[in-house]
Amino acid sequence: MPSPDFETVIGLEVHAQLKTRTKAFCACPVVFGASANTAVCPVCLGYPGALPVLNREMVSLALRLALATGCRVHGTSVFERKNYFYPDLPKGYQISQYERPLATGGSIEVRGEAGAPRAIRLHRIHLEEDAGKSMHEAPWDDAPADSSFVDLNRAGTPLAEIVTEPDIRSPEEAYDYLVRLRRLVRWVGASDGNMEEGSLRCDANVSIRPAGTAALGTKVEVKNLNSIAHVKKALEHEIARQTETLRRGDEVVQETRLFDPGSGTTRPMRSKEEAMDYRYFPDPDLGPLVVDDSWRDAVAAALPELPEPRAARLASGLGLPSSDAATLCATRPLADAFEEAVALHPSNAKGVANWFLGDLLARMTDADRQEGRLPVAPATVARLVARIDDGTISGKIAKELFPLLCEDGADVDTLIREKGLVQVTDEGAIRASVAEVVAANPAQAADYRGGKVAAFGWFVGQVMKATRGKASPALVNRLLREILDA
Ligand code: ADP
Ligand code: MG
Ligand code: ZN
Repeated sequence: MPSPDFETVIGLEVHAQLKTRTKAFCACPVVFGASANTAVCPVCLGYPGALPVLNREMVSLALRLALATGCRVHGTSVFERKNYFYPDLPKGYQISQYERPLATGGSIEVRGEAGAPRAIRLHRIHLEEDAGKSMHEAPWDDAPADSSFVDLNRAGTPLAEIVTEPDIRSPEEAYDYLVRLRRLVRWVGASDGNMEEGSLRCDANVSIRPAGTAALGTKVEVKNLNSIAHVKKALEHEIARQTETLRRGDEVVQETRLFDPGSGTTRPMRSKEEAMDYRYFPDPDLGPLVVDDSWRDAVAAALPELPEPRAARLASGLGLPSSDAATLCATRPLADAFEEAVALHPSNAKGVANWFLGDLLARMTDADRQEGRLPVAPATVARLVARIDDGTISGKIAKELFPLLCEDGADVDTLIREKGLVQVTDEGAIRASVAEVVAANPAQAADYRGGKVAAFGWFVGQVMKATRGKASPALVNRLLREILDA
């Protein structure tokens, strides 16, 4: 419950799994869903004496993210050991970056309260490795009950951690931030961005403070957020809980809480540890990471046009409403397909856009949009719009053709010819049809002439029916008017 007496402060920590073939510090493949402990080696199993070797591709992918968000990339960054004990961490430490991260600064724009864009500043982007996975459910049938298991396939998977400043002011902004960050990591090819599969993971930090004050309130960190919707729900619950706590005159306890998707609530997990508990120190097995200007510039030069500028270019360059341009830039493959179609029929970008925004998107699932799986090829959309524009078929016929084009992938012109759908633009033929319809319906004609304007539309419908939808609507209108108004 947002209350006018309190202001919400949110900072998000997102782990994005970087899309490399192999792990961060060894040559094991990065796999999802493989049999437990089949993608492991002495390095990621934490055997004593095994030496890590940094994966260059991991750095390049994180650099894409850093540059796409306008971060300052540091020429030298340092890997440190974050020490803690957990069964899924056989080394006893996670290799991460602490004092000297890969990149700092930068921002991601969100839609603020009033719809105006607002920049959420990034505190840092750093590199680290993932831990393994504890499994508390028996992974095979005759496994002993009440036991836990460890799968180390995920140990050593490369991650980029993207940390915001405490700039987010509402669960809605947090939601929008995550939608845009997810689009960006996919857009630049840094990560699959799939929260359900864990390739994007978010911890949400939230506090409230009396409205109009500057000091930060005591924060709570919420974990176990497996979807963007859960993040929003968890934040809403936390804000209500913390507001309630302060109202009662109690203090918010600094702690880590777990979100329970079933009840939509959070419950305490552990009191928050301090950075010093981890006893960070530079990993003596890894030298400093040096990113020189030429590496950074090469990554920057290879970045694709980013979603916001691209949407702005489509809006201004093609005269599209900005919300339409934004929808077309929801994923990079969708934007690519749209621009491919426009290039084939540049005289009517708006017409092409309308087909994409309407019939095409309606037939595409989220996954289709991500993968750029269109129900018809961009060239087919271009051809269809061209045939409407050159008067070969009416828009109505095009709508009827569309499902057929989706089904058998037929060629637009062949289908129009085979189905005998070419629009009738022969004035004589349409005039005959119009005259016939008017003669056959003297009562409606009298109504129209007596001032019942709505009867005109009825006549248009009758003529279209008589011509099986093939008459040019413009011609039907003109000829009807001539005959009825005569
Ligand atoms: P920790 O050391 O506990 O991880 P950090 O200072 O690194 O804390 O911050 C982690 C995240 O929490 C960042 O996104 C930061 O913006 C956010 N954050 C820090 N303090 C607050 C606060 N009082 N309220 C809400 N978010 C906060
Ligand atoms: Mg933290
Ligand atoms: Zn390995």
